[in-house]
Amino acid sequence: MLYPDLAVNEQGHLTIAGHDAVSLAEEYKTALFVMNVDKFRQNCRVYTDTMWECFGDDALPLYASKALCFTGIYRLVNECGMGTDIVSPGELYTASKAGFPLSKAYFHGNNKTDHDIEAAIDAHIGTFIVDNDEELDKIDEYASHRGIRQAVLLRITPGIDPHTHKAVITGNVDSKFGKAIETGQALAFTEKALKCRSVELKGFHCHIGSQIFDCQPFCDAADIMLGFIAKIKKQYGYETEVLNLGGGFGVRYVESHPHIDIAANIRDVASHIRARCEEFSLRMPKILMEPGRSIVADAVTTLYTVGSVKEITGFKNYVSIDGGMTDNPRYALYQSEYTVLNASRAADDCDYVCTIAGRCCESGDLIQENVRIAKPKRGDIIAVLTTGAYNYSMASNYNRIPRPAILLVGENGYKKLAVRHETFEDMCACDIDLR
Ligand SMILES: *Cc1c(COP(=O)(O)O)cnc(C)c1O
Repeated sequence: MLYPDLAVNEQGHLTIAGHDAVSLAEEYKTALFVMNVDKFRQNCRVYTDTMWECFGDDALPLYASKALCFTGIYRLVNECGMGTDIVSPGELYTASKAGFPLSKAYFHGNNKTDHDIEAAIDAHIGTFIVDNDEELDKIDEYASHRGIRQAVLLRITPGIDPHTHKAVITGNVDSKFGKAIETGQALAFTEKALKCRSVELKGFHCHIGSQIFDCQPFCDAADIMLGFIAKIKKQYGYETEVLNLGGGFGVRYVESHPHIDIAANIRDVASHIRARCEEFSLRMPKILMEPGRSIVADAVTTLYTVGSVKEITGFKNYVSIDGGMTDNPRYALYQSEYTVLNASRAADDCDYVCTIAGRCCESGDLIQENVRIAKPKRGDIIAVLTTGAYNYSMASNYNRIPRPAILLVGENGYKKLAVRHETFEDMCACDIDLR
């Protein structure tokens, strides 16, 4: 098995944290996201414990909400002592509804509207991560109107290529995000922020990309950012309090992906940063990181029920399931790899080569091609592993397919529904009756 929380019981069924996946599918109906909360907490703890150990008590990992957002997850994140990064007023609303302390929320995004900015300031958001001049002007204006000084970080593009999928690179100079150091615009942006009377510049942010498997790109980014910070200090006498290094550590989706020891990587980044700070005679800033995928991806398994098994003689086999790109668009978007199992026959040989197809009217609606699983029959439960990140949060109602439920499970029989299945009525809730 790819992960230690997965096993096979006497009935030959897959178990997740000791729960029979076939029984869960029966009880809660499919498609179903099953999240192992113990594993989620463990993933959080890797960041909190290692960052506190390496950078001191004021270091803070921020859970990147966009990976998976629902009210319950903010409670877990808060219990683990993490902050959060939000990218929209919808995420802000969800965090606020969950009782998350918004002083530990960081508001991202490359196009915050006037309304977003006003609503976030009114909700006492801790920090804005400011992307552009228009936003900075608006924050300064509204903070002044409310008689406060708003804490901000500036988003800087360090110009790093982390060697990952091009759709998830964000730190290069021609990115839509932030201000480039290379062009001198980051410096001008900083100067402008320092002049804003109702903005308190706390520091800088960079995010270089996603699904990164070693610490080198983070060290490179830190070098560039600390060089920039040293320059700012020299030029303006400004001491940077906060350096946010973004998210991006990778996740092992299939056996062939490398193992990654995140704690060891954070320790390497930390000693690198310490050395650079000494070299540049800088005080060590408060370090923030923003893990999303590496917190939530491997804590979640999707369960589906098989409908048809279609064998096209001499070509290929299609196994159709009761979900698809509506709950997991990542294969269609990025040809993402996944590990697929027949949860009903988890002890059988995986000798059936097939393509797992969704139920949408779209040939590209596939979950995975050419996987090897135990030969399924209608009614079998298919498990797709590592589906916690960027699936439920990217889910749609294409073909009016309701979004799946999210079930939390854990050791000692812990089981709690965190998000119910969407209903047809939910999907029609915004439609206005024209009769
Ligand atoms: C997406 C994103 C993250 C999270 O990235 P992961 O690869 O999921 O860890 C963090 N920070 C910013 C600014 C992001 O856009």
